[in-house]
Amino acid sequence: VSGIDIRNVTHTYGGRDGRGVTALDNINLDIKDCEFHALLGPSGCGKSTLLYLIGGFLPLQEGGIITPKGPVKGPGPDRSIVFQNFALFPWKTVEDNVLYGLKKAKIAPEERARKAQEYIDLVHLTGFEKSYPSQLSGGMQQRAAIARTLAIDPRILLMDEPFGALDAQTRRVMQEELRAIWQRSPKTVVFVTHDVQEAVFLADRISIMSARPGRIAHVIDVDLPKE
Ligand code: ADP
Ligand code: ADP
Repeated sequence: VSGIDIRNVTHTYGGRDGRGVTALDNINLDIKDCEFHALLGPSGCGKSTLLYLIGGFLPLQEGGIITPKGPVKGPGPDRSIVFQNFALFPWKTVEDNVLYGLKKAKIAPEERARKAQEYIDLVHLTGFEKSYPSQLSGGMQQRAAIARTLAIDPRILLMDEPFGALDAQTRRVMQEELRAIWQRSPKTVVFVTHDVQEAVFLADRISIMSARPGRIAHVIDVDLPKE
């Protein structure tokens, strides 16, 4: 497997008594190596659940997910995620949050400071290196979280509505930056959004999902030029 192979994945929350929520109902999807894939659909269709299963943050109940590193059994250094709620360490500065990610990714110590600065600049947080998350706006925190994950340069990049807290103009700038990063350093990206325009602008392929139970209704190729 060179991309992500998702086979017969079903996921139920609060089950056992037969009244659980079937968040995902028999999902089958092949995401190609270095593909930019969007999971698009209304709230509650299981986008986050599928993303977390790929990341290994939720235990698989039924079916299998295989990546180049083998079957997903839990989180791994090949997969890195930008959570919807940022998940920055509040007791660390922007710079230390990014450095923490680099350390976890086992980047050589002498390279970390340079890389941290590069990605802080990239998300336009230059000058806020020493700020704590509580001193920043929601959008700035979101950009810091994006920098922390992108700096690790994972083989598989997972993003859960990473631009949700940004104003329209910043969102477009960040979308363009993300696309540029992906072109410079190709990687498999799985991106959750409920924004059709964002999916079309960013993705090579889009899984359109429907809810109750969560299913993939269509997978479409996007042939629009991105430049
Ligand atoms: P999306 O990301 O598309 O909004 P989710 O994956 O978050 O969808 O949720 C899919 C379904 O599973 C929804 O009906 C949601 O209410 C339900 N769900 C999600 N997380 C939990 C949970 N921890 N416990 C119970 N139900 C959940
Ligand atoms: P490092 O490897 O850089 O020490 P850690 O994640 O292990 O990174 O911890 C970073 C620092 O944050 C440590 O000093 C730790 O004691 C502190 N820390 C960990 N969890 C919390 C918390 N919930 N609240 C405040 N400080 C914490």
